[in-house]
Amino acid sequence: MGSRRPSYQEFEVSELYCPNCRASRPVRRHLLLVLPSGNRYEYRCAVCGGSLGGKEDNDPSEFRAILQRT
Ligand SMILES: [Zn+2]
Repeated sequence: MGSRRPSYQEFEVSELYCPNCRASRPVRRHLLLVLPSGNRYEYRCAVCGGSLGGKEDNDPSEFRAILQRT
């Protein structure tokens, strides 16, 4: 019991092959752009910081949240 993390990240990529490290590395997801149609992310190697590819989702909730903040 206790501190289980929520499992909302289970569909996310956690490791990718990094050509700089020549090994599979944990990745960090950076939010690049927030668009009305969804968000654009970039995955970067957690060790060397190299870009390992990008991803877009189709979730406009982040964009709406920003509009409401301003
Ligand atoms: Zn790397």
